[in-house]
Amino acid sequence: MRVVVAGVPGVGKTTIMEEVAKRTNYPIVNYGTIMLEIAKKENLVRHRDEMRKLPINIQRKIQREAAEKIGEMENVIVDTHLTIKTPAGYLPGLPVWVLEKLKPELIVVIEASPEEIAGRRAKDETRIRDAESLKEIKEHLEANRSSAFACSVYTGANVLILENNEGMVDKAVERFMEALK
Ligand code: ATP
Ligand code: MG
Repeated sequence: MRVVVAGVPGVGKTTIMEEVAKRTNYPIVNYGTIMLEIAKKENLVRHRDEMRKLPINIQRKIQREAAEKIGEMENVIVDTHLTIKTPAGYLPGLPVWVLEKLKPELIVVIEASPEEIAGRRAKDETRIRDAESLKEIKEHLEANRSSAFACSVYTGANVLILENNEGMVDKAVERFMEALK
């Protein structure tokens, strides 16, 4: 099965996937990491957080190349984004040409409250995160949900809304493992 895991920056996708990796043989691929490898090879960026600032046509090109790479893998969990906030509006993480390559059967949308998300972003010193108000985070959460269900209709994939509440990573991991069965 191909699984897509998505959610706003800092919601805890990678944290949950690190725990899931200990319990399953599914390879877990970070879409951004694949894109970063491509972008670095072409000398476009040095850091992953520079990618969303690249011209949109360049981002789309790298996105397409990453989809082709990941599309060759089977039984994979893809840590990615449904929407990427760019200066030119929300860029879809899973436009049709990406979905056609990935063909997911399950889309997991990881969520937490805007307050929890803002708190996690503020504490995480490993990443360069854009400052966002609670209202903006709420809008981004809504954009992701809409996008997940649009992808679901297009591919027939199920959607699981997975809550990652504060200090409850284990609970989220349990729920994810149930859906993976
Ligand atoms: P990005 O899309 O930017 O890669 P992400 O969704 O992968 O973000 P993580 O890097 O996994 O987010 O988590 C962001 C921060 O939130 C980390 O510091 C992590 O330790 C913390 N965190 C994740 N889940 C929880 C939780 N349930 N309770 C408390 N802190 C959490
Ligand atoms: Mg991550």
